[in-house]
Amino acid sequence: MLPTTIRFRLIAVILAGIGLIALLFEFAWLPRLDDLVTEAQAREVGREVEILAESIVPYMLSNQLGAIHETLSQVEFRYDNWAALHLVTPEGRKLYPISSVDLPEGPEIITRSAPVTFRDTTLGTLTASIDIAPQIQRFQSAQRNMVLLGAGIVALILAGVLYTIDRFLTRRLVQVARAADAMALGKYDVTLPDGRDEVGTLARSFGAMRGQIQDQTERLEQARARSERALEARSRFVATMSHEIRTPLNGILPVAEMLARTDLDAEQRERVETIITSGNALSSIVNDILDVSMLENGKLTLSSRPMSPARLVSEALDIVRPSAEAKGLTLINRFEAPQDMTCRGDDDRLRQILINLLGNAVKFTERGSITLSGAAVPAQDGQVRLRVEVSDTGIGIPPEHLSRIFGRFEQVDDTTMRRFGGTGLGLSIVRGLTEAMHGTVSVDSTPGQGSRFTLEIPLAPAILRETRSTSDPVQTARAQRAAKVLVVDDNAINRSVASAMLKKLGHDVTLAETGREAVAASARSRFDVILMDVHMPELDGLDATRQIRAGGGPNAGTRIVALTASVQARDVDACRCAGMDDFIAKPLSFEALIAALDLVQAADIAEPRQPLEMPNG
Ligand code: ADP
Repeated sequence: MLPTTIRFRLIAVILAGIGLIALLFEFAWLPRLDDLVTEAQAREVGREVEILAESIVPYMLSNQLGAIHETLSQVEFRYDNWAALHLVTPEGRKLYPISSVDLPEGPEIITRSAPVTFRDTTLGTLTASIDIAPQIQRFQSAQRNMVLLGAGIVALILAGVLYTIDRFLTRRLVQVARAADAMALGKYDVTLPDGRDEVGTLARSFGAMRGQIQDQTERLEQARARSERALEARSRFVATMSHEIRTPLNGILPVAEMLARTDLDAEQRERVETIITSGNALSSIVNDILDVSMLENGKLTLSSRPMSPARLVSEALDIVRPSAEAKGLTLINRFEAPQDMTCRGDDDRLRQILINLLGNAVKFTERGSITLSGAAVPAQDGQVRLRVEVSDTGIGIPPEHLSRIFGRFEQVDDTTMRRFGGTGLGLSIVRGLTEAMHGTVSVDSTPGQGSRFTLEIPLAPAILRETRSTSDPVQTARAQRAAKVLVVDDNAINRSVASAMLKKLGHDVTLAETGREAVAASARSRFDVILMDVHMPELDGLDATRQIRAGGGPNAGTRIVALTASVQARDVDACRCAGMDDFIAKPLSFEALIAALDLVQAADIAEPRQPLEMPNG
C-alpha cells in the first residue's frame, strides 16, 4: 500500500509533472529546436556562399586561379565547421580544390551552392558543405543545462511548499487527529494547535465540541454511578427483604408440610392446605422478585445438567394439572421428543419457564383446553432445538397489549389483577430467562379465542444418567441408607425443622448452634453430609466450612451443603469459594433435602462431585 499522506501525494504529483515535462522536452521540444537550428544554419550558409561567390567574380574574370585558391582556402581555414568548398566551371572543370575531393554527406551536413555570375554569364558554381553537429550539440547541452536549472529551482520551491504544508497544515492536523483519538479513549487534555488560519479555526471548533462531550460524559458517568449505586442498594434491599421473608417462611412451610403428613380431620387438613398454598404463593412472589432483580443486574447463573426434554415437559404439565382440572380444563400434551433423548441445560429454569406459561394459560382460560405442543429436534449445528408452544382457549390478549406483556409489572389492564391476581412479573422473567439461554419467546393471540406462546431455545446435546424414581420421593429416600447429617443453624426453629425433616427421611441428625460448635463437632466424628447455615454470628458458615476443610479432620472431604435464604449469584459464588459443594434454598423442602442427600449416596458409589449450582428460584 502506498502512503496516503498529503505530503506524499504532493511529491508524487510534482514529480510526475517534472517527468512529463522532461519527456516532452527530450522527445518533442529538442527535435523541433534541432530543426529550427538546422534551418537557420542553412539560410546562413546559403547567404555566405552567395557573398563568397560574388567576391571571387573579379578573380574568375581575370582568371587569377591563385587568388581564387587563396580566398577559398582562407575561408575554409577560418571556419572549422566548413567541411568542403567546391568551385566548378559550367563546363565541369574543378577550379577548387585542385585535388578531387567528394562533398561529404550526412544528416548534419548542410550543402548550399551559389552561381558565380557576371552580367548574366555564369562563370562557375560555388558549393559549400558545412557540418552543423558541433553547433547542435552545443545548443542541446545549453538547453539541458537550462532545464536542469529549472528543475533545481522547481525542487527548491517544492521543498519550500512541502515545509510550509508540513509546518502549518499536516503537523497541526495530525495534532487535532491525536486529540480526537485520545478523546475516544477518555483523555480530554491533549493540546490542540492554535493560530488564526483555517486549521486554527478547525482546532477551536473541535476544542469546543470536546469540552461539551467531556461535560456530557462526566454527567453521564455521574448518573451511571448514581444509578449503579441505586441498583446495588435496591438489589441489596431485595436480597435482605427476601432473606427476611424466607426465614419466617422456613418456619411455616416445612412445619405445615409435616403437619399435612399427620392424621388430620377434614377441616384441619383444609386449613393446613391453605397455609401451604399461601406460603407457596408468598414464596413464589419472593422468588419472582429475586429473579427479576438478578436478571436486571445480570447476576443470574444458569447451570448445565443432563436433562430429558420429554420428562421436563411432562413434569411441568404434572405441576399445573391439578389447577387445570380444578377449573375443568383439558390439558393436552402433544410434545414430540423421544423419552431417552437427552440434552444439557438448566432444567430448573426451563421448568420454571414452562410452568409460568402453562400457569398463565390455566389462569386466563375459563373453559376449553390448554395444549402444549412442539418438539426437541437435533439441529444441523449439533445442538438440540427445543420448541414449545403453549396454546389456550382463554380470554386472549388485545393486539395493542401484545408487545407490552413481556415487560415488568405489565398486565393487560387493572381489572386483570383484580380478577386473576398476579404481579405482572411472570412473563418478564420468562423472557429474561429465555434470552439468557439464547432463545426467543413470542406470542400471538386473538381476544376471546385464545393465545399461543412460542418458545425456542437451543440446548447442548448430552447423555442422561437415570437417577430419579417416579415413586413417592419420601418413601424412596427412606429406603436408602441412613446418612449421618450435621445440621448447623443459629435459628432454633430452622434447626428443629431441618432435624424433623431429616429424621422423617430416616437419617441420623446431629445439631450445632454455631459455626464454632460445627467445627468442634466435625473434629470429633465423621458425617456423611453437613448442612451449614451461611449467616451466623461470630463464625459464619463460610468460615466454619473453611476451617473444617483446612483442619484435615475426619470431615475435611465431607459434602458440605449451604443452607440459606440468600440465593443470589454472589452468595453462590461465596459458598463455592469457601469450599461448599451444594446449596439448598430456604424454606426447606423435602425435595431439595432428598436431592442433596441423594448426591451423598451417589458419591458413595464413586460418582464425581456435582458442581455448585443455582437452586431453583
Ligand atoms: P401475571 O400473570 O402475574 O399478571 P405475567 O407477566 O405472567 O403476569 O403476564 C402479564 C399479563 O399478560 C397478564 O396479566 C395477562 O394480562 C397477560 N397474559 C399472559 N398470559 C396470558 C394468556 N395465556 N392469556 C391471556 N392473557 C395473558
